[in-house]
Amino acid sequence: MLSYQELVTRAIGVLPMAYAPYSRFSVGAALQDTRGRVFLGCNVENASYGATLCAERAALAAAVAAGSRDFAALAVVSSGPGVCLPCGLCRQVLAEFTPGLTILCAEPNGAFQVYTLAELLPHRFALRA
Ligand SMILES: [Zn+2]
Repeated sequence: MLSYQELVTRAIGVLPMAYAPYSRFSVGAALQDTRGRVFLGCNVENASYGATLCAERAALAAAVAAGSRDFAALAVVSSGPGVCLPCGLCRQVLAEFTPGLTILCAEPNGAFQVYTLAELLPHRFALRA
């Protein structure tokens, strides 16, 4: 398993791949599953703004496509300033798989704050309680 700092470094590494010509707000994400595999994602914007995909959901989609559904930690970083917190939509999508996920909210310089998804989304929507 990567350390939290190493996972943040992986998220920073994918930051330059972000496609953000409209907002100029690049985001990178690194999602580690409970087996230690790491999946990367970046935001992918679109001229039809509502079609934009966040980095966190891009990483999650790559993980699910590889057969991974149990996650240990997610690191997310933006071009800044400050730490990057997942949007509400991403919080809900992440909670589908790991409601207690550890979330590392990082700055481009590598500093980060640690949260749990349960803290960030205390009352998620679920079809079953
Ligand atoms: Zn999002």
